[in-house]
Amino acid sequence: MPHHTPLIATLVAGLVLAFILGALAQRFRISPLVGYLLAGVLVGPTTPGFVADPALAADLAEIGVILLMFGVGLHFSLADLLSVRFIAVPGALVQIAFATALGMALGWSLGWRLGGDLVFGLALSVASTVVLLRALQERRLVETEQGRIAVGWLIVEDLAMVLTLVLLPPLAGLLGGAAEAGSAAPPGQIARTLGITFAKVATFVALMLLIGRQVVPRILHYVAHTGSRELFRLAVLSLALGVAYGAAELFGVSFALGAFFGGMVLAESELSHRAAEESLPLRDAFAVLFFVSVGMLFDPTILLREPGPLIAALLIVMFGKSAAALLIVLAFRHPLRTALTISASLAQIGEFSFILAGLGVSLGLLPQEGRDLILAVAILSILLNPLFFAALDRLAPWLERHSVMSVAETSAEPVQTDLPTTSLQDHMVLVGFGRVGSRVGEELEREQLPFLVIEDRNELVARIRTRGIEAIQGNAAAPEVLAAANLALARALLIAIPDGFEAGQIVEQGRAANPDLEIIARAHSDEEVEHLQRHGADLVIMGEHEIAHRMAERALRRQPATSEPARARVPP
Ligand code: AMP
Repeated sequence: MPHHTPLIATLVAGLVLAFILGALAQRFRISPLVGYLLAGVLVGPTTPGFVADPALAADLAEIGVILLMFGVGLHFSLADLLSVRFIAVPGALVQIAFATALGMALGWSLGWRLGGDLVFGLALSVASTVVLLRALQERRLVETEQGRIAVGWLIVEDLAMVLTLVLLPPLAGLLGGAAEAGSAAPPGQIARTLGITFAKVATFVALMLLIGRQVVPRILHYVAHTGSRELFRLAVLSLALGVAYGAAELFGVSFALGAFFGGMVLAESELSHRAAEESLPLRDAFAVLFFVSVGMLFDPTILLREPGPLIAALLIVMFGKSAAALLIVLAFRHPLRTALTISASLAQIGEFSFILAGLGVSLGLLPQEGRDLILAVAILSILLNPLFFAALDRLAPWLERHSVMSVAETSAEPVQTDLPTTSLQDHMVLVGFGRVGSRVGEELEREQLPFLVIEDRNELVARIRTRGIEAIQGNAAAPEVLAAANLALARALLIAIPDGFEAGQIVEQGRAANPDLEIIARAHSDEEVEHLQRHGADLVIMGEHEIAHRMAERALRRQPATSEPARARVPP
């Protein structure tokens, strides 16, 4: 039996160690991310013992990126993407420029050449897709307004990176590095490279939107009708990986961007939810490998060799970059919480920075020291990122109370939206029309009470409307969606969605919009009940309590009438 199986060794060592250390971290109430990163350091080349293959680990991590972005695309329609362009495009560009300038200043103070400064600055300016999406997913923010802006921002950063990676080699000579063909590329060639890149990206996007949108859902529908779960899973996986790979190979688009569009063409299909479920387990496993691969690149001696520059670079990533993002989002008159969430999610660097640093070193632009700094800043900023969110949770309510930009005030402002406000008055607003909400809806219909539904899933909304019920499609946690339900004039808000965290956001906004509104919410645990009550719910119904209550009620009611103790009892 041959023992030289680096792929299996890397996969197994990465996953097993990540599991053990992740579980330990969880036990000590630290984020499991710390465990995954540490697992990477342990199997990395800087620590003694087994050394996994860093290149293979990075490849495996890339699969995690693809599946993550595919999953995000599944929840994103073209309209969602276009709705955030006014903030995401200028926001991302200004923030990249600002962070790059800060990074360049640091590089300059360390005595590097212009090209090195530029690569270093750019590497500090782009956030990691995996870290950002994980943070948003953990807090179930992907489908909220904040999440949409952050994802739009990510897409712009991604496109900027594609351009940078394409343009850096021909520009290397000009920037003081080793040019691709030995000398500086003429401006004509640079313009051509730029034109070709734009044309390729545009062709890919056009192909996906025009042809992909027709063909891909059909393939999936066909497979769904075969009734084979295995084939359906395979189809989802082939689509995610196939489109991403094809996009990268044929059009020079990044894997992440390719996967995002692969998911997006499916977003409007009813099967998108099933596709998301099917890709979930693999996505999680490979996203863990991403963190392991980051840990592997970390050289702990940098902490002793370059403490000053390291702290300066870390401050740029964690505070410089996020301060720029915060100000930009606020300048666009978005709520303070949105601005804080976006800046917290951008306050880290990851995979793009490694690729850029690697390219910078190979082109003779960036000194090795710069690459070491970037790797160290990445691991430290990823480690510290959860603290940012924890601080946000504590600080945001206080800031909102003490600032002119409170949620209630800003959401009352005209938000950019094309959702028409309902004409209903003294109505009920029912959030979610699944197993719970649809039954509530039936009762309201029977009693002929005026109500409208807010529901996330397109296909459900279409069905609700055909029944003659008014419905708003969207995530009820998004301020503009709630605004369209006109809570100020409503009688009651019934929140029938399973997620307590999201329900809390809806309760909070509902209470701010109308202090007299009767708010009834659904919960699954005592913690959620408390959370929702704290945010202003009048009544919180916990499913398990109601089940217990009904069971007991039924059993007690039947007891005297049907009791035949001898037969009902199980024989000893
Ligand atoms: P169920 O758990 O079967 O009662 O289904 C819950 C329903 O609520 C599903 O149809 C979801 O699409 C919907 N839903 C979940 N979260 C939200 C949200 N934030 N905004 C609107 N609809 C939601």
